[in-house]
This record gives sequence, structure tokens and C-alpha cells, in this order.
Amino acid sequence: MQKQLLFLPGPVTVAEPVLHAMASPMINHRGPEFAELLGRCKRRLQPIFGTKGEVLVLGCSGTGGLEAAVTNLFTRGSRLLAAPVGVFGRRLIAIARAWGCEIDIIETEAGAAVDAAELAKRLRDDREQRYDGILLTHNETSTGVENDMAALAAAIGNHPASVVVDSVSGLAASEFKMDEWGFDLVVTASQKALSVPPGLAMIAASERAWSRIAQCTAPRFYMDLQQAREFGLLGQTPWTPPVSIVHALDVALERYEREGAPAVWARHASYARAIRAAAEALGLRIFSREGAHSVTVVAIEVPEGIDGGKLVATLRNEHGIVISGGQKELKGKIIRIGTMGELSRADINTMLEALESSLAACGYRVAQGAAVRAAL
Ligand code: PLP
Repeated sequence: MQKQLLFLPGPVTVAEPVLHAMASPMINHRGPEFAELLGRCKRRLQPIFGTKGEVLVLGCSGTGGLEAAVTNLFTRGSRLLAAPVGVFGRRLIAIARAWGCEIDIIETEAGAAVDAAELAKRLRDDREQRYDGILLTHNETSTGVENDMAALAAAIGNHPASVVVDSVSGLAASEFKMDEWGFDLVVTASQKALSVPPGLAMIAASERAWSRIAQCTAPRFYMDLQQAREFGLLGQTPWTPPVSIVHALDVALERYEREGAPAVWARHASYARAIRAAAEALGLRIFSREGAHSVTVVAIEVPEGIDGGKLVATLRNEHGIVISGGQKELKGKIIRIGTMGELSRADINTMLEALESSLAACGYRVAQGAAVRAAL
């Protein structure tokens, strides 16, 4: 297979030392080595979530983590307010519906972020405080939109509903202050900004979440967070974990710490800014609205008359550059370029040159070199 550079919004290009960590010899997942490994990972994850509370590591993808959040906090008939801004926000709603929750939805136009004033209004209107939960997405991967989580937290104020945040494609790429913002369960996954292969979901829980989880009567077994907490205290997971991926997470978190969170945030922000500048220099439109741009995924509209599927395929087949197209109703209408993972500035420039040449191959007129010039 031709060597590929992944610019997907996950899974991402993984650094060699992280890949090598997966070849570590197997250890006893109920022994002291694993306890040390897991403990180290959890301690390093806390500042990334912005919490002093517990972080659980689960052997599943992000969706498993989101289902765990729903089934541990809510039950059949729970009333939730959801503010989706794309495919993944709607998936979280689908999970909650599958578990019998009743959901009111704040609709937002594709490409826009949640209007904090509208969220505040909907919660003010809930005079009897009947909402049990609020479902939010930090970063919507399908539209390249990042919500202003500080503003949404302020809009929620002291409404007592439990707040669940999907930060699968957001966490670690920008500052997140779970405790300060008062969120209850925040979910992320290994294959995004943490730059680890897929296989782990991580959930941070507030103290308030733990007391509500203890009272929640919904059926659960594999995803029982109380069990995960109890085993966590022993340095274990309730069920056999993907040990090799935990080794990879350990090395990735060490690298994250060494680079320093502010530098990691700046890297994602500058790559996203460079890609947006390059796209605009080519006469392309950014799908996300001004002020709502994600730092982890740039969604770009496919120009009129150009086949979006062919563009993605040309980048892959001719240049070994792997990006994503649109999902669901945005299929063929946008392309999505991820900034996460082991990518250098030179990689960004290589991708932009390939984008330029692939656009030209698809019949779009480009000013040669404009993309990289703008990005630089
Ligand atoms: N939520 C968001 C925002 C995502 O980007 C994704 C995956 O891309 C998911 C949830 C689902 O995660 P997974 O595919 O790991 O189950």
C-alpha cells in the first residue's frame, strides 16, 4: 500500500513511539504494572479535561462512551434538552431515544454553533426545572463547528439538569474546563486529538454525576460506570481492557505533556487557520460560520460543478493524502480536513499542494501556489 498521510477527523496519523508502544509485551491487567500504567494515564488526563474528578478509561469507541453517559445518568422517561449541531449531536439524541428518554431539541442551522442565548431561554422557560439532562457537543466533526462551551455553561447557570458533553473530537485540542464550567459527564475517544489508535473512550465525571449515577435505575452492565469506578480504585478496569492501546495512550500523554497543552492548542489552531486561509485563497468557502470554526476539522464547501467524491479519491489515489467527504445530507457537498495527529507544518503544505493539484484535476481553476502561500 502507498504510504498515506491521514488528514481525517479521526483516526489520525499516530507518532512512531506511540505505535511502538503497542508492541510492548502483554502484562497482567490485574497486576501492579497495569495499575501503574492506568493510574499514570488517568492523572495525565485530568488536566486535559480540566477536572480534579475521576477519569474512567473504557474499552470501546467514543459512541460506547456516549451510551455509557446516557445509561448511567438517565432512564426511560427522563426529559432531556439537546442542542445538536450536526450528525454527532443527532447520534447522541438517537442513543438517548433508544434508551427511552424524551427529548426536546434546540435546532441550529448547519455550520452554525449553538446560540447560548437560545439555550438560556429554553432553560428559563423550564420553570419547574423538569429537564433531567442537557446534551451538548463540544466539537461537531460533521460540520467543522466548535461550540463556545464557556458561553453554554454560563447559559445553563444553576439549572439542576445533568450536563453531558460529547468532546470526542474536541478534547485535548483546545482548553477545556470541565469543573469550572460545571459539566457532569464529558466523553472523549483515543483516536482524535490525543493521537492514539482507536479503541478507548474516556469519561470524566463530576461529584454530582456520581451521586446521580448511584440513584439511576436504568439497566446497565458492561457500561456500568460505578463498576468502572470501583475497579478503577484498584488500578483495574472491570473487564479485560485493550492493554496495547493503553500502552499507546501512556506514551501519547507523555508526549502531550512534553509539548505542553498551550503549544498543542496553538498547533491545532494554527493548522486550522492555515487550511482555512488556503481554501479561501483558492476561492473556496468555509462551511462553518465565522466565530464557530473548529480547530480540529476544517469543513470546506465543494465548488459548484466539482465532484466531491472524485476530489477525495484523487487526493488519496494520486497523492496518498486521506481526507473525508461530507456525511449524510452533506455528502458530496463538503470536504473535511482534520488537523489532529502527528502532522508537521510541512505535512500541511504537502496536503495543500495536493489539494490544489487535485482540484485542478477535477476541473477547478486554481492559481498555482496560492494555497501554500496563504497558509504560510
Ligand atoms: N462524537 C463525535 C463528535 C465524533 O466525531 C465521533 C466520531 O467521529 C463520535 C462521537 C463517535 O465516535 P466513535 O466513532 O469513536 O464511536
